[in-house]
Amino acid sequence: MQYVSTRGAAPTLDFADALLVGLASDGGLYVPKSWPQIPDGGRGDYVETAVEVMSPFVEGSIDQDAFAQMVSDAYSVFDADDVAPLVDLGDGLHLMELFHGPTLAFKDIALQLVGRLFDYELTSRGERVTIVGATSGDTGSAAIEACRDRRNVDIVILHPAGRVTEVQRRQMTTVQSTNVHNVAIDGTFDDCQDMVKAMFADEPFRARMNLSAVNSINWARVMAQVVYYVVAAERLGGRRQPVDFAVPTGNFGNVFAGHVARLGGLNVPRLVVGSNRNDILTRFLNDGNLETRQVIPTLSPSMDIQVSSNLERLLFELEGRDGAAVARLLDAFRENGSVAIDRALHASLAEGWSGARFDDDQVLACIADEADRSGVVLDPHSAVGVLAARACRRDPGVPVVALATAHPAKFPDAVEKATGVRPALPDRLGDLLGLPERMTHLPNDLAGVEAFVEEHVRAV
Ligand SMILES: *Cc1c(COP(=O)(O)O)cnc(C)c1O
Repeated sequence: MQYVSTRGAAPTLDFADALLVGLASDGGLYVPKSWPQIPDGGRGDYVETAVEVMSPFVEGSIDQDAFAQMVSDAYSVFDADDVAPLVDLGDGLHLMELFHGPTLAFKDIALQLVGRLFDYELTSRGERVTIVGATSGDTGSAAIEACRDRRNVDIVILHPAGRVTEVQRRQMTTVQSTNVHNVAIDGTFDDCQDMVKAMFADEPFRARMNLSAVNSINWARVMAQVVYYVVAAERLGGRRQPVDFAVPTGNFGNVFAGHVARLGGLNVPRLVVGSNRNDILTRFLNDGNLETRQVIPTLSPSMDIQVSSNLERLLFELEGRDGAAVARLLDAFRENGSVAIDRALHASLAEGWSGARFDDDQVLACIADEADRSGVVLDPHSAVGVLAARACRRDPGVPVVALATAHPAKFPDAVEKATGVRPALPDRLGDLLGLPERMTHLPNDLAGVEAFVEEHVRAV
């Protein structure tokens, strides 16, 4: 399998090279040269389906037996029997729980595999990398859990001091592995993100530290997320039976994986994008006009995003895989803060996609309602998915699966406000609040942070 850039001007790579570079050299994102078809079959067994569905994507690059072993190892750390349980909410609505990994959010599903793939590939090349990243809360802990104790990876995560919740901070800082380095920066999340960008832009430093990233534009993350769409269909009657999906969306990586499953032949009449008040995507799906606005903080912070990077992969398909056309579209968007796709393209998009947005009051009401109705306690992100599933239902004969992306205990304040009950952390995280923390507090200053990285990582 070969990978091409969505902007059409970067070298074609195999899977392992696309994994390690992340972003293409022309600024685009890597996508497979063709979409592998998913044959009928499958028994709803997560690991079995994962190996089958992902193998064509790594073909010719990663040894098949080693890959199957990594997949099996990655999902053995999940604390649900079948990795991602499907819960029946009634009336053809189902909830797929993607939050049974080590950090209680769906990002574990991709990152647990990606961490192993990185280590495997680096070992076979005799290389090491330093992964740097900034987090406003969830991504940092999922990346740390994916990289802890990996032989050829050091990971440095910056977070804004005092601006993440205690649970979020402790999920990062109580990891005792020597290859994990947490830095609390005096500043905002944007300051942290700017600092990461500045480290990547410092060429000598970047080369010396062999900097890398595991951010959501990495193709391997999308690939790993294709699996649960297929598993859900299998458990609801088979890969050729129609199933719609509703997905709480931020960077568009999760729902795009559903589109990949569809391009591979899964019968998904409709993908429903759920947004909070940061609704650039739902506006785009409804009128074909992509227009940024200010980011508004909400109860579902992992979706407080205005520019959804993975949308570029969908635009590439819409534009008939014409990388130059994608580059023109995105240049215009960057210049003007808005761009419209042509009407025929929008019409073809609207056939398979819907979008709906919900504010915090609707989210709180949904959490309360669902707890009353079925006893299922949703987190605010998952509630957006359930609301979107209900709002965009077209055909009562087609089941819809809402993806639950975080455990309610990850957002206890919102859940308590909605239901009056504070959700408890799962037992395996129970001592989180008692464990010692490891982190370094630094001022918002590039030279100081670079010196810290240089001193603490083991890069060659
Ligand atoms: C990251 C995240 C999302 C958004 O997923 P995208 O792939 O960025 O669209 C939704 N919910 C939770 C809990 C997340 O952590």
